[in-house]
Parts: sequence; structure tokens; C-alpha cells
Amino acid sequence: MKCAKGGQFTSGELQPYGEIGLSPSAGVLNYGQGLFEGLKAYRKKDCDVVLFRPEENGLRMQRGAERMCMPSPSVEQFVDAVQETVWANRRWVPPFGKGSLYIRPLLFGSGSILGLAPAPEYTFLVFVSPVGNYFKEGLAPISLLVDTDFHRATRGGTGGVKTIGNYAAVLKAQARAKSEKYTEVLYLDSVHKKYLEEISAANIFLVKGKTISTPPIKGTILPGITRLSIIDVARNEGYKVEERPIPVEELFEADEVFCTGCAVVVSPVGSITYEGKK
Ligand code: PMP
Repeated sequence: MKCAKGGQFTSGELQPYGEIGLSPSAGVLNYGQGLFEGLKAYRKKDCDVVLFRPEENGLRMQRGAERMCMPSPSVEQFVDAVQETVWANRRWVPPFGKGSLYIRPLLFGSGSILGLAPAPEYTFLVFVSPVGNYFKEGLAPISLLVDTDFHRATRGGTGGVKTIGNYAAVLKAQARAKSEKYTEVLYLDSVHKKYLEEISAANIFLVKGKTISTPPIKGTILPGITRLSIIDVARNEGYKVEERPIPVEELFEADEVFCTGCAVVVSPVGSITYEGKK
């Protein structure tokens, strides 16, 4: 679907997966005006295909678009486009228990712009791919490196939205952690350099007795949709849930640590390394 700046998205159409034409002066290529979403379709025994809370992704894309000075499809347009794409690819949704269909909605400034300004035209599209486990460990515990050199987001920045540049910013930290055989990076806040933020593409939780803690949503971490579900489930199961700044040292006093996200689902953390401490 396309739309001009300040306009409404008109309905789009299904197309075979393939290259898309883009001007060298497209806003997304020059000024990073791009947002994405990530969600999954699963197959259940008694029903063809189910989506996990797609309206929440549509709402998050709208909030992100506002931050990035972009128009956004309505939540209804977003969900319709996701459903239509999944339905057209439904034979690729693996049987229950053996994977899922990952859905990637993208919104970007496709219009040409030379001076720094919002692009004059936007494109919204959805593509899908069958996927297995996100981590090579499968659902076995992962290892985290707490990075004290790189930060994922700063106050007043774009850490609270799913803009493409946030992910470019973590590539180097992630590559370093992987070269040292860690599964992933855990980031700290950029002001005090001591409070937990999140993992490159997941939120973090600590369990201590019957209390579960997770960092608060203050604009520097992504408001994960899985995070919200886990908070609800934990409360229903009788846990006390605290959303509060968590000093990094608390990791080493926790009974359990786990991370959540559409791609990582709920993954246990088996080891954490922080300035030599393990
Ligand atoms: N934080 C970041 C930086 C992410 O990229 C993701 C994945 N979207 C998450 C947290 C988890 O969000 P969700 O549960 O909505 O997938």
C-alpha cells in the first residue's frame, strides 16, 4: 500500500515476493525513515492458523510512525494486510510444535527527498517466512554478555519504537558478543550505566521467589507485546510483578532470568557475564 505525506493508505494487493524498486533518494535510504513489526502465525490442531495479538502490533506501528514523522495504516488496514498475506501463504505455516510463520510488516519513506525532511510518500508492505527457533540453543538456556561500551538507546531517542536504525546500532555489539561465543547482548541504560534495559530483540525479566521484575517502559526500551502477556500471565499465576529500574547486580541474586519476544518467545537465560563477573 502507498500513501502521500499526510494522506491515507489506500488498499494494496498481493504480489509474489520479489525486489521492490526504490529511488536512490528515498527517505528510508538517506534518513532512516523506516519502521517494522514482527509477529507470528501458528497452526493449532483444531484451527487453521492463529495470529498472536496482531492489533497490538498495528497500534505499536502507529505510535512508532508518529515518532518518525510518518503516516501509518490504520490498525484495521494493518491487521487485514497481515491476515491476507498469511492466508495466501497458509500452507507454509508449519504444523503445531514445529515452528511458525514469521510476519514482517514494513513501513518506510519511499518518496524522494534530498534535504533533511520527512519523505513525500510512504510504502507499507508485509512479507512472511517460515521460521524455527530464534536461538541456535533452541529452547535451552542462552548466554548473555552485559555490554558496557554500547547502548541500544538514549533518553529522548528512538528506543521506544521499532525503527530500523535501532537495529543497525546494535549490530556491532552483537557481532562482538557472538565472536566471544555469547548468544546475545544485554544493554544497560546510557545515563547511569547500571540499570538493565533489554536484549537486542527481546525484553528481560528476573524472578526472585514469587516476585517477577522487569525494567519499566520509559522510552528507551521497546514495549514488547510478549512482555505484556507475560506480566498478565504471571499476575494470574499469583506472582507479584514489578516494573522498576533494576540495577545490573540484581541479575546475580535472581533465582531465574528469562527474556521475551515474538521471535525468542520465552527463552531461559543460563549464564550472564558482566565486567568479568559471571
Ligand atoms: N525489544 C526489542 C528491541 C525487540 O526488537 C523486540 C522484538 N520485537 C522486543 C523487545 C520484544 O517485543 P515483542 O514481544 O513485541 O516481540
